[in-house]
Amino acid sequence: MTRMPDGLAREAVIDVSAIEHNVRHLRAMTGTEVIAVVKADGYGHGAERSARAALAGGADRIAVADIGEALALRVAGIDAPLLAWLHAPGESFVEAAAAGVELGISSLQQLRAAAAAGTADRPVRVHLKVETGLGRNGIAPADYGTVFAEAARFEAQGVIEVIGMFSHLSNTSPAEDRAALSRFTVAQAGAEATGLRPRLRHIAASHAAIDMPDARLNCVRLGIAIYGLSPFADRSSADLGLRPAMTLRAAVAAVRRVPAGQGVSYGYLHRTASESTLALISIGYADGVPRAASAGGPVRIGGRTYRVAGRIAMDQFVVDVGDAQVDVGDEAVLFGDPERGAPSAGEWADAAGTINYEIVTRIGPRVPRRETRS
Ligand SMILES: *Cc1c(COP(=O)(O)O)cnc(C)c1O
Repeated sequence: MTRMPDGLAREAVIDVSAIEHNVRHLRAMTGTEVIAVVKADGYGHGAERSARAALAGGADRIAVADIGEALALRVAGIDAPLLAWLHAPGESFVEAAAAGVELGISSLQQLRAAAAAGTADRPVRVHLKVETGLGRNGIAPADYGTVFAEAARFEAQGVIEVIGMFSHLSNTSPAEDRAALSRFTVAQAGAEATGLRPRLRHIAASHAAIDMPDARLNCVRLGIAIYGLSPFADRSSADLGLRPAMTLRAAVAAVRRVPAGQGVSYGYLHRTASESTLALISIGYADGVPRAASAGGPVRIGGRTYRVAGRIAMDQFVVDVGDAQVDVGDEAVLFGDPERGAPSAGEWADAAGTINYEIVTRIGPRVPRRETRS
C-alpha cells in the first residue's frame, strides 16, 4: 500500500521526463518544427516547467494564448522563441515587443498595433493568423488582400517581420479539415503574391498533427499531446506512444466502518448496500475534481479501483471500499498513467461529460505541483 507523506493532503505529480519523451516522439513522428503550447499554466502542469521540458525534448518554440502568459515566461527565464496569439481588445504590443514575444495577428488593427510597436532595429515578429473555417479569430478571407498588402508594406519599412502564417482546424471531419487546409493554401498564395514569404506555416494542433499528415506543413502546434493525453476518444495515450505527465493523488483522510443503509455525502446519492468501509479522500471540486463526476469518477487505492460514492464536495469526497483494508494516510490516485495501473484523465472526463483537456487544466491552485523524473 502506497502512503502519502505525512502532512500532505493532495498533490499533482508532474513527470517532466514524460513531457520530454512526448515532444521527442511527436517531433520524430511529424518530421516538422514543433511549437509546444503551454497556455493556461501548461494545461495545469505548470507553464515554465512544461516549457523547459518541451524545449529539452526538442521543441523549437513555445506558445501561449495571452501576452501576459508570455511575459511571465520571459520573467521566469524562458528565452526561446515565444508566440502569443489571443489579444485583449485594444491591447498594446509595446511590452511584448520589448520582450521579443512573437505575435499572432488576426486583424488589420492588430497588424497596425504590432507595426507601431516595432522599430527598424527591432522589428516585431508576427505570424499572420488566417480564418479558414473555424469561425473564431483570424484574418477573414475578404480581408486577406488588404491585410497582406499592409503587412508587406510594414515589412518593407522594417518594423515587422512576417515569420509565420497559421490557422486552426475544427477537427469536425477529415473532409472539413481538408477544406480548411485548401483555404489555407489559397491564403498562402495570396500572401506570396504580395511579396510575403512567411517561413513557418502551421495549421495542425495535436489532433491533425497525429492523424492528418498533409496538415503538418512545416510546423505543428502541440498542446494536449505533449502532456501525454490523447486528443482522440477512441485511442489511448499508449496507443499513440505517449506518456501522461500528470498524476493526481490525495490522502485518505478518514476511514469509517458503517452499517448497511448509511447515506453518504450531500443528498445521499449513495447508501451502503451492506456493512462497509467508507474512505474520505481529501480533494474536491475546489481543486478541479468535477462535481459532475460524482458516482463515476475512478479512484485507485491499494491496487484496486473504486468509484466515487455520493456527491463530490468542495474539499473532499467519499469512496465505499467495502471490506478492503484501507487506512488513514493511504494514497488514492485519481488519475495518472494507465500503463502503471492508474485510472486515466479520460475516464474522469467520461464520468463528467467532458474531455481530458478540461480535467487536467482545471486542477486548481490548492493542489501543489511536485516535479519528478521517471
Ligand atoms: C490550444 C491551441 C492549440 C493546442 O491544441 P491541442 O489540441 O491541445 O494540441 C493549438 N493552436 C491553437 C490556436 C490553440 O488555441
